[in-house]
Amino acid sequence: MEKFIQDAQALLNLRLTGRQVAALQRYEQELIDWNSRMNLTAIREPEGIRTKHFLDSFTCLLAFRDAPPASLIDIGTGAGFPGLPLKILYPNMRLTLVDSIGKKVDFCRHVVSVLGLDKVEVLQARAEELGQSPAHREKYDWAVARAVANLNILAEYLLPLARVGGGMLAQKGESAPAEAHAAEAPIRLLGGHLRQLIPIALPGVAEERFLVVVDKVAATPPHYPRRVGVPSKNPLK
Ligand code: SAM
Repeated sequence: MEKFIQDAQALLNLRLTGRQVAALQRYEQELIDWNSRMNLTAIREPEGIRTKHFLDSFTCLLAFRDAPPASLIDIGTGAGFPGLPLKILYPNMRLTLVDSIGKKVDFCRHVVSVLGLDKVEVLQARAEELGQSPAHREKYDWAVARAVANLNILAEYLLPLARVGGGMLAQKGESAPAEAHAAEAPIRLLGGHLRQLIPIALPGVAEERFLVVVDKVAATPPHYPRRVGVPSKNPLK
């Protein structure tokens, strides 16, 4: 854990508290334990979990600048990434974790319970349903996702959930610049404005990564998101 603590400080200027480190250690144990029984994530070793899951999730704070989100929704969270590590960083943040797969939702609920996290809602649902639900539509400071879909599809999942004045954040690999270019028109249509691509270099990880940061500048037209499955089958162009 010592190297991880140093990496977090060097990369993000983060000084993790003893409490935060203990929570991450417990999360790591639970992930390894559940992963031995079911396939939650392909990354299974402590070193990989710390860098490629925890540290990578933490990099989102580079998009938040000096204002930690009061509320955040993580779509396609899987085993909780990036939402749960961010909640460990920002204990007061209201967090909604969403995945369509039951066993992933079960795992997230388990971690929330063993870590005693409050103000966290874990939903087995599809992004397209929540985007049309009055309880979730345009209710979040930030709508985020990592490794869920191409950016033109992701924009239709995420932008309807962000409030005007908030934003969407996609954690992406090397295809980010091309995807961002191709998604410019859908982003505009859905009320977004592409603010920035932030390059991320994780220690010991060769592949290039980016945060795609989009400001929500106008309300999303009521027609979007379209019905479940339509955004991925017939992506906006
Ligand atoms: N974000 C996690 C991570 O980076 O480790 C998990 C990534 S996993 C490759 C993608 C997840 O997105 C899957 O668990 C899948 O069930 C979920 N997903 C895909 N489309 C979704 C949708 N429309 N609504 C909710 N969840 C979705």
